[in-house]
Amino acid sequence: MQSLRGTTDILPDEINMWQEIYTKVHELLTLASYNEIRTPIIENTNLFKRSIGNNTDIINKEMYSFQDQGNRNITLRPEGTASIARAFISNQLYINKQLQRLWYLGPMFRYERPQYGRQRQFHQLGIECIGSFSPMADVEVIRLAINILKILQCKTYNLEINSIGNTEERHIFKDKLIEYLIKYENDLDNDSKKRLYINPLRILDSKDIRTQEILIEAPQLYSFLQSNSLKHFNEICEHLEHLNIEYNINKQLVRGLDYYNYTAFEIKTKEIGNQDTICGGGRYDTLIEQLGGPKTPSVGWAIGIERLLIIIKDKLNIEKQGLSTYIAIQGDNNKKYIWKIIEILENCKIKFELDLSNNNLQKQLKKANKSNATICLIIGENEIINKNIIIKYLKTGYQEKIQINNLHQYLYSLKN
Ligand code: ATP
Ligand code: MG
Repeated sequence: MQSLRGTTDILPDEINMWQEIYTKVHELLTLASYNEIRTPIIENTNLFKRSIGNNTDIINKEMYSFQDQGNRNITLRPEGTASIARAFISNQLYINKQLQRLWYLGPMFRYERPQYGRQRQFHQLGIECIGSFSPMADVEVIRLAINILKILQCKTYNLEINSIGNTEERHIFKDKLIEYLIKYENDLDNDSKKRLYINPLRILDSKDIRTQEILIEAPQLYSFLQSNSLKHFNEICEHLEHLNIEYNINKQLVRGLDYYNYTAFEIKTKEIGNQDTICGGGRYDTLIEQLGGPKTPSVGWAIGIERLLIIIKDKLNIEKQGLSTYIAIQGDNNKKYIWKIIEILENCKIKFELDLSNNNLQKQLKKANKSNATICLIIGENEIINKNIIIKYLKTGYQEKIQINNLHQYLYSLKN
């Protein structure tokens, strides 16, 4: 049996990195007043169609959708923002608080061709600052993305940022872009040809070299921005400069989802080949209203954890475990003592591994040596009669006998 194509098991020896990411992110985001939210993995298909947009890759090609037994159209979430906007509305999170700062980490699903850094089930960490139109909110979230990458030892990245204006500005630009691209229609790659009339902005994102060449002379969305858009964007840039956060303005940058406006940004790295974007985000001022909620300007981003892990897995400094024990036992009559010993270890918060093999003591000690434990606690037949226990230091082989009554004290001082 194999796992489904594009899905992987996260095995016990990798899980410590996931836990480390969770712990560090949790700490940093809690400091900044971001609260974790967990939304369902399945949602109504319509939620994504209405928010991500009908002519996007995600909706056209990548959705994991099915009908449930009640004939409802259901989709495994391809991203987090739409679900959070839905949760914000359906739980009326706007009632008591003007601003919601939320974060999430969980699996997302997209039917894509699996390759290095691209899976069908992958994980995103994301944050959403919901309820502020201020450019400071954009800066707050960008700064947090950078800080998260830094504390996770990801140090070679590029922040690219752009403003994609408001709907009106994009509308005017779209017409101009189509007008320009029609002249080269036959030279465009196939995807771009299809997009020309339905979603021309996405052509700017094309990786095709010829299409890219054609785009060099194309009109730029940036030059259609009016003063409000420009002011918002410039203010963000000023703050980034003040914070010494390096960035490039990438005037071709548009995002693959329809709900963005004004700010769009991506963080890329040179370390993982083609799948080089680890973080994508932007402002979405109309999404919540469009889904039936109150007018609520918002901004957020998502980081792909698997891609991030490719970069950081050898750099993450995971604390070595402290004192740990292996419990070996000799003779059937002593087995009940084990629970007492285990309780002491639990109270001292010392890791333990109980030998369950029923082997002789020698074989158990061999296992103890292989187990990575620091010490082996041996409950021997003679010792129990005298209420003793043997402590064997596995590295040196040194051992000593102590009273079980003193075990708590002994282990406690060993640990500290
Ligand atoms: P790409 O251009 O690589 O397809 P995207 O624009 O579709 O990315 P977003 O929707 O912005 O990606 O998602 C944010 C981040 O989630 C990406 O930057 C990436 O790190 C990660 N991501 C997206 N799709 C996948 C996938 N199929 N497998 C692994 N990570 C992914
Ligand atoms: Mg994609």
